[in-house]
Amino acid sequence: MQRFEEFGQLLFPTRCFGCNVIGLPICAKCRREWHPHYYSTHIANLQVHSGVMYSPIASKIILAAKENGLAGADTLVIDSIIHVFSLARFNDHNIRLVPIPSSPSARRRRGRSFIVDITSKIGRQLSLPVSDSLELCRKVVDQSGLNATARAENMVGAFALKRGAFPRGDLILIDDVVTTGATLTEAARVLRLRGLHVLASVTACVAQPLR
Ligand SMILES: [Zn+2]
Repeated sequence: MQRFEEFGQLLFPTRCFGCNVIGLPICAKCRREWHPHYYSTHIANLQVHSGVMYSPIASKIILAAKENGLAGADTLVIDSIIHVFSLARFNDHNIRLVPIPSSPSARRRRGRSFIVDITSKIGRQLSLPVSDSLELCRKVVDQSGLNATARAENMVGAFALKRGAFPRGDLILIDDVVTTGATLTEAARVLRLRGLHVLASVTACVAQPLR
């Protein structure tokens, strides 16, 4: 076994998710950029709690998890969200985690629904129930190049409650990155419209919104 691992290291040496340097899954320099803190922002009528400030390095870590499915990068994203839970003091509430779903095409490409997968692991680690109750009900475009107004328009009416889903309790929306909050506030709107209680959102990263 040891032999195979050594052989694997020769062929596919461990590289830093942030800067690709050979050695650790995250090098000391990138660890300084991806070191969970605690940020809390209020967007529309949703409180969003996040662990890491978005940066080029954070972007690479998110991509390594999301697009390449690298377990070590998943762990960094999960750890950031769990760190936020340890500081956000949700303890008095009847918490239920609701992941932001991916589009069917992203799901096919990645072989999983990224946030749903991450959220179920977080639920297991924190012993919190997860309710995968949202779905995308129409096509949305990639948000990365869009400004705040275009993002909001892109997301209007994009989510629906899955058939038969009725997540009770104090719902916490889980996502990887919050930028303008267009995705999260739209998801919260759909849940609230059905009389459900959205308490807050927790994301791994927070990015400065484009104006
Ligand atoms: Zn690095």
